[in-house]
Amino acid sequence: MSELSANKTINPFEVALKQLEESSKLIDLDEGIHKILAHPKRVLTVSIPVRMDNNKIHVFTGFRSQHNDARGPFKGGIRYHPQVSVEEVKALSMWMTWKCAIADIPYGGGKGGIICNPKEMSEGELERMTRRYAYSISDIIGPHTDIPAPDVYTGGKEMSWIMDTYSALKGNFVQPELITGKPIAIGGSLGRNEATGRGLSFTVREAANRLKINMKTSTVAVQGFGNAGQFAAQLVEEQGAKIIAASDSKGGIYNKNGLQIGSLRKYKEKNGFLDGYPGAKSISNEELLETDCTLLIPAALESQITKKNAEKINAKVIAEAANGPTTPEADEILYKKEILVIPDVLANGGGVTVSYFEWLQNLRREYWTEDDVNERLDRNITKAFADVYQTHEKYRVNMRKASILLAVLRVSEAIKIRGLWP
Ligand code: GLU
Repeated sequence: MSELSANKTINPFEVALKQLEESSKLIDLDEGIHKILAHPKRVLTVSIPVRMDNNKIHVFTGFRSQHNDARGPFKGGIRYHPQVSVEEVKALSMWMTWKCAIADIPYGGGKGGIICNPKEMSEGELERMTRRYAYSISDIIGPHTDIPAPDVYTGGKEMSWIMDTYSALKGNFVQPELITGKPIAIGGSLGRNEATGRGLSFTVREAANRLKINMKTSTVAVQGFGNAGQFAAQLVEEQGAKIIAASDSKGGIYNKNGLQIGSLRKYKEKNGFLDGYPGAKSISNEELLETDCTLLIPAALESQITKKNAEKINAKVIAEAANGPTTPEADEILYKKEILVIPDVLANGGGVTVSYFEWLQNLRREYWTEDDVNERLDRNITKAFADVYQTHEKYRVNMRKASILLAVLRVSEAIKIRGLWP
């Protein structure tokens, strides 16, 4: 199959634990709190029997990992992918805890997933699988306990089915505040769809200011052309940068004179893939990562930049739209090469930040304008970037260690204040 795969030899949860350990050391974190943070509070595995279109029953496996809720309800997306694993959702739920703490929004971290290939399923099969999964996790999610959202290969459609199923099961009244990333018609927020990319573009603007990089003469390579990658590329293009390389699960394209995101998107919509885009040279996903450019945006899956290719990265700044694209060994190499990595937990925090705005609007039965959403997002991300950058300078560590360190400080303070029960 041609999916852009996560690197299967690397266990993402081990990566997450290593990151936690490194940051904890720097602040001499209490051993007990470290232990609490090293274990997700709850991990649920569910079997999801679905009647397929051929009338046979297929049993899918799904997960929901709830890492920590010291600062607020668990929050995080649900991904559909053939390679989802329990270790992956555990790691992703821990990263959500850090992400929400860095963005300083009142949530903890969660993540879910179903092992499936949505590209090979009919609409009916997807709906039945999604509703059965929603039912299976319905006792541990809720508007004030765990609020799911979209992630890899899920979107408004799946969120609507989950909201509808949950609402029917729990009192049979509409509960939009259960889930975020919904279509506008049922309580979604303006600006949510572009939020991950927009937030990332704000962090890039802030990094460029600090490093005195001129966006108008900058070049960009983007790995992955899903929701986050597309909008991130479009919004840095709007800042004046030139996109010279882009890729999707089938491979990449390169043109040193620049690719127009608008026409690239139309091409992909029509043809399904970027490959074959007129005037561009075909490159592999590996070559894309090594493109000589100012800004590299990994926007696909985990463990793409590893000790094997980190030395060959030719960017000044890496802004991680994907979750977990860089391994700890690669982080060390990039730091030595003086490449500034804006880590996932900061760079892609715009998505969950606007999810928070969506939830607030739902709870208050309000509708905010798109300008209002984008301005609040800008303020929030700019503050988060400044907090992390300051920590990075103070502790003289890379931006990832600084981000996680800051998050661990915030989460551990909440744990200490609340105390251990009983
Ligand atoms: N799945 C997204 C992430 O990894 C969004 C999560 C959310 O909005 O809750 O940040």
